[in-house]
Amino acid sequence: MDTKVSFIRSLCAGEIEQDVVFPYPEMDPDERELLVSVLDSVDALLKDRGEDFRKWDVAGEMPPEFVDELRQFGLFGLIVPEDAGGMGFGNMAYSRTLQQIARHDASVAVTVGAHSSIGMRGLKLFGTDDQKARYYEKLATGEMIAAFCLTEAGAGSDAASVRTTAVEHDDHYLLNGTKIWITNGGIGDFFTVFAKTGAAGARSKMSAFIVTRDMPGVSIGPHEDKMGLRASSTTSVYLEDVKVPKENLLGERDKGFRVAMAILNSGRSGLGGGAVGAMKRLIALTAKYATERKQFGEPIGSFGLIKQKVGQMVVDCYAAESAVQVVAALSDRGYADYSVEAAIIKVFATEALWRTADEALQTAGGTGFMREYPYEMVMRDSRINRIFEGTNEVLRLFIALTTLNDVGQDLKEMASSLKGIFDHPIKGFGVLYEYAVRRASWATGVGTDKGSLTKVHTALAAETEVFEDLTRQLAGMADVVLRKHGKNIIGKQFATRRMADVMIDLWVFACVLSRVTAAIEKDGAEAVAPQIEIARTFAGQADQRVRQNLRRIDRNDDELIKSLAERTYEDLAYTWDVI
Ligand SMILES: Cc1cc2nc3c(=O)[nH]c(=O)nc-3n(C[C@H](O)[C@H](O)[C@H](O)COP(=O)(O)OP(=O)(O)OC[C@H]3O[C@@H](n4cnc5c(N)ncnc54)[C@H](O)[C@@H]3O)c2cc1C
Repeated sequence: MDTKVSFIRSLCAGEIEQDVVFPYPEMDPDERELLVSVLDSVDALLKDRGEDFRKWDVAGEMPPEFVDELRQFGLFGLIVPEDAGGMGFGNMAYSRTLQQIARHDASVAVTVGAHSSIGMRGLKLFGTDDQKARYYEKLATGEMIAAFCLTEAGAGSDAASVRTTAVEHDDHYLLNGTKIWITNGGIGDFFTVFAKTGAAGARSKMSAFIVTRDMPGVSIGPHEDKMGLRASSTTSVYLEDVKVPKENLLGERDKGFRVAMAILNSGRSGLGGGAVGAMKRLIALTAKYATERKQFGEPIGSFGLIKQKVGQMVVDCYAAESAVQVVAALSDRGYADYSVEAAIIKVFATEALWRTADEALQTAGGTGFMREYPYEMVMRDSRINRIFEGTNEVLRLFIALTTLNDVGQDLKEMASSLKGIFDHPIKGFGVLYEYAVRRASWATGVGTDKGSLTKVHTALAAETEVFEDLTRQLAGMADVVLRKHGKNIIGKQFATRRMADVMIDLWVFACVLSRVTAAIEKDGAEAVAPQIEIARTFAGQADQRVRQNLRRIDRNDDELIKSLAERTYEDLAYTWDVI
């Protein structure tokens, strides 16, 4: 299989690279066996702790004794290779484990997840043998807990603007700066820190370093008082004249932005798994409540409006789970670049969870609002997912702009100008201007074999047709958008967002078709009828959303909305009243 093909990019050219998504990925049997026993341990550790999680949420802290229990259960060693004392999980098994933890508590999931998904992921992806020999075992046992230190007061979404400096000396770098909102900051000993190593200037190049808590000059701020994930540790990390040995440089010098993005990409199936776990919990809670609570002499679950909510939760959860698994598998199989698909699952799964949390609370009515019940806590805990590890707005820009830019890659003369695109997906888009004015016609896979989806089971023939048709629509619109806007697409965020939403729907749609096909092939269409219904429902909904988004790229009220926003910035208020 060609591991360099990008599914979404090909889709924009009207080509369906089905081998990326078909057959639906399966776990290695040995890994699966180990995973099942780990999931059992997770349940044994967490299942009767609801009262504790509630207490720690109110207190805003997780007791150190419980963190010790997580260590004893080996939950910090999930992705560390077996020969270094870990479980050696690939992303599929890792993501499924986070799903199981998140079914019990989000603060626990984020504590374990920040360690493996982002804290020590840089060591796994870029570490030298010496670095791994020094840290792997301690990270596997949880003797060292890891944290990822990128964000600063002036550098949130614009991560390249960090101001922490790393000045080179004979045998070390001297680090100075302040990182904020660092998950596991208060309990961490191993910090993946990003600092400027280029010439002076806000946007100069940065590098990644392994910094340990015992290094003189490292100190930690107080525990942040947060809306959700309250028991998980979030603190500032201060670096004051910290001497970091040169052998602690992680990856290549000046390539820190690339290191940070690779870590976040690779970790996204963990966050996606966590979101799916929380959705499964909410679905179980809602089903129970809806069947037990009676109004007007009937269980509320018998009413159409409640069924609509629960059915939609199931479709959203199945779709998110399907796509998370495919992205995890792409990472396990060594795909060269699945960053767009990874960004898609982050956006889709976190928004699906938010809708689910909202509808679960609504189904529970006033009960949902009471702190005595779990709904409000799950909702508070879920909210951050759309913000951290790349906000969903910035990820949408990344999805659409990177893809559309990549579409032009076949033009040889553009290749050199495209080099910086990974570091600067938004700025780098300027090269498309040339493409847009030169390209007179758009060669797409439409009408050829490449525009067909042949691997879907025939029981899903109608849905396959919908997918193929939407692909043609996307390819056509990509052409129109590129020709119309060229480099100015950077400033057209309304259009970019719609393109991103179309891409999100089509990637998730493809993953659902693949999963249901595998299910039919294994057990027969009759046995998996509910999954076929899910695929049908998703197909119908995606069809409507995609068409609406594409239609509104040209026909919309964007200028009116923009002008209302600009007017509000001038007044700094809503200026109308009824008196
Ligand atoms: C509980 C918690 C845990 C965290 N854990 C960590 C951690 O472990 N390590 C770490 O390094 N960081 C961590 N963070 C920081 C987190 O990653 C950042 O909050 C996030 O990247 C967004 O940055 P910001 O908050 O500065 O928002 P901003 O970047 O200021 O964004 C504000 C708003 O503007 C939008 N926006 C920004 N730029 C654009 C644009 N170009 N176009 C359109 N809209 C835009 C955003 O989408 C957002 O809606 C954590 C934060 C929280 C709250």
